[in-house]
Amino acid sequence: MDVWLTWCKRKSKCRHCGEYIQQGEPVVVGKLWSKERKWPMQFRWHPKCWLDQALAYLEKHPYIPRLTTGRPKLELSDVDRKQRAKLLRQRATLCYQQRKAALAGNAVRVLHLEVKKQELIDQMPGPVPKSWRVHHEEKTKANQP
Ligand SMILES: [Zn+2]
Repeated sequence: MDVWLTWCKRKSKCRHCGEYIQQGEPVVVGKLWSKERKWPMQFRWHPKCWLDQALAYLEKHPYIPRLTTGRPKLELSDVDRKQRAKLLRQRATLCYQQRKAALAGNAVRVLHLEVKKQELIDQMPGPVPKSWRVHHEEKTKANQP
């Protein structure tokens, strides 16, 4: 599923709490391409509701560190590798701050941090990580003539 944060263009129901998300409020949109249907399914959540359900999902599926059998190491110079690690750390920090801001109900800060996260993408040497994919697609589109 592709997920992104945007402004709500028309009043819609939150998939998590069932309350309405008003026009002009931040909304998390999820798009899922279904094999049986020809059109994608779209879901909408309050940013806080999305985080709540996403974190609940992660708690049910704990992180398992990869040992030696992961994907092969990327062919990158030491400088690029360091830059990459730095950006990954920066993004993790932003995600953490974003989560805190969302839990505090500070939607403006959530959006601000989202913009900062997207700014990291252009600085990323080598392929953009899969977990950054939504933004990567936007970047690809932007690069098309
Ligand atoms: Zn909600």
